[in-house]
Amino acid sequence: IPTSRVDRLLSSMGYGSRMEMARLAKAGGITLDGADLVDVSKRIPVTRDLPARMVIDGEALDPVAGMVILLNKPLGMTCSHKEDGPLVHDILPARWRRRDPAISTIGRLDKQTSGLLLLTDDGELLHRVISPRRHVRKIYRARLARPLGDGEGALFASGQLVLEGDDKPLAPAELEVVSETEALLGVTEGRYHQVRRMFAATGNHVEALHRERLGGLSLPADLAPGQWKLLGDDEIALIF
Ligand code: URA
Repeated sequence: IPTSRVDRLLSSMGYGSRMEMARLAKAGGITLDGADLVDVSKRIPVTRDLPARMVIDGEALDPVAGMVILLNKPLGMTCSHKEDGPLVHDILPARWRRRDPAISTIGRLDKQTSGLLLLTDDGELLHRVISPRRHVRKIYRARLARPLGDGEGALFASGQLVLEGDDKPLAPAELEVVSETEALLGVTEGRYHQVRRMFAATGNHVEALHRERLGGLSLPADLAPGQWKLLGDDEIALIF
């Protein structure tokens, strides 16, 4: 179990500078196991149960490093600073934007795609989830401008489809037709605008796109757009 000085830990979690943490502690604003913690140079073990034991300014400590957040991404928000518009990070508590290590999205959804999006400060986990070798399956629900034909399923499953601008064919993907203009598509890669480009390759157009599943994780029915929750270890294990 890693240990950390209290001032360094809190500062890395976005609570403020080390000087501010020293001042807060002197004023009685930090308690550990119910007792005032005055000396912020003290080293403590950084355990997952710390939020249940430490109170900062009257509130439970934020989750310590190694968190995974499941967000129901609303339409119109972006996953990248490079795009215009509000960032999905802005949905989370403001202090979390100052955390080190930073919280990143695990892969991306387009601005006009909604649904299941994971964020984490665990770089190793992030790479495991997006690695094409892991074959984590993502399931999207697509609403289409035109009726489906009868060849899309076979084409997507073939492993032969090369999208415009790509040099390698797509890995096999599974199409499940829901209605003439609605389908579920399961893909194991995460290429740029992949689902939209796959349907474009068949002469169709995706009008609405929503991610429902990632690995064994589903978007909970009671999680409204813009709502998020922290995942427990058992839920994180469902990804792979
Ligand atoms: N495929 C897309 O085209 N867009 C997304 O947001 C995700 C997958």
